[in-house]
Amino acid sequence: MEVATFKAACAACGQEFLRPELSDFAYGDFILCTKSGSDFAHFSVIENPACKLVEPQLPKGVKLTDVMASLADPVSEEPLVSYPVCPTCQSSKLAFWRGEQSGKREVLPATFTQFLELSISEQQLAVQEAVRRVAA
Ligand SMILES: [Zn+2]
Repeated sequence: MEVATFKAACAACGQEFLRPELSDFAYGDFILCTKSGSDFAHFSVIENPACKLVEPQLPKGVKLTDVMASLADPVSEEPLVSYPVCPTCQSSKLAFWRGEQSGKREVLPATFTQFLELSISEQQLAVQEAVRRVAA
């Protein structure tokens, strides 16, 4: 889908870049980012079949979006994360984001094919591993 992009700036290297951001009204929709910060994918908690499997297994204090990012299929052969990343230096410390709107970009849906093809017991293990990864 087409997503509006907004100015953001990295606190580490000072580089300005554009990030797709959903409106505040897009309830349950999230944008994930590749580890290098160069590509994005979106997913909807409400429509996503993997969320229904993951949500009941989450321990308190662990964010669904963090675990879903960790379980998503890689994009451009990179793992996804739920937080913003500077595409220049890969820092996750931003000076600001959601600045002035500038343009739009196509953001493809995140897929969870690898996760969904697992057996139920393998899915439970994958969720436990993902929880450990995001809590680390
Ligand atoms: Zn940077």
